Amino acid sequence: MSVDIFLASRNAKKIAEMQRILRETLPGLRVLGLDDAAPYDEPVEDEADFAGNALLKARAGFAASGLPSLADDSGLCVDALNGMPGVLSARWSGPPKDDTRNNTLLLDQLADVPDARRGAEFRCCVALVYADAAGVVHEEVADGIMRGRVIRELRGTGGFGYDVLFVPDDQDGDRTSAEMTSAEKDAISHRGMSLRAIAPVVTAVMNGG
Ligand code: IMP
Repeated sequence: MSVDIFLASRNAKKIAEMQRILRETLPGLRVLGLDDAAPYDEPVEDEADFAGNALLKARAGFAASGLPSLADDSGLCVDALNGMPGVLSARWSGPPKDDTRNNTLLLDQLADVPDARRGAEFRCCVALVYADAAGVVHEEVADGIMRGRVIRELRGTGGFGYDVLFVPDDQDGDRTSAEMTSAEKDAISHRGMSLRAIAPVVTAVMNGG
């Protein structure tokens, strides 16, 4: 069983994470990224929530590739910042996207926030847009959340983005998600959760609808 799916993202580390998680559940799946497709106008991610942005990207990917298209939108929502950076996570410290600058800014913003109020969560929404055998277009979305807290320094070399300052709750130790193996992070992550939730729909599409 093999089918191509289009993954509308340019974030190489995020694509790798998504491929790893999807192939676990769906080994026959071939994942094509933006670099495998002819260039097209990518939408501006200007929706107010993760689901809206994920749908924008998946719809554009489907329109351009004709393949079942998957896209995610994700970010870090910090309790003490009323859920920000949220959908603004990637460019929190302004353009161009820079993880190191984002992390430094977030640590500065939280400098006076006591340990007891440093709770946060990564959120991810995955959208799938595909056509059935009759050509009718369908849209599905699935969410995932990983709760944890923001520490006061950067630790670890794995992952990407804010992983170096985020300690997930759902673990034995006190490691950041950048100090976990890929498999450990996938098992508890917002992206793992949302992809595992949408995987049955992807399987149904692979099997013809
Ligand atoms: P997106 O590409 O618009 O979804 O932006 C997601 C941004 O949120 C990334 O650039 C990171 O800053 C942050 N982010 C989302 N998921 C993760 C994660 O698993 N680890 C670390 N940072 C993440």
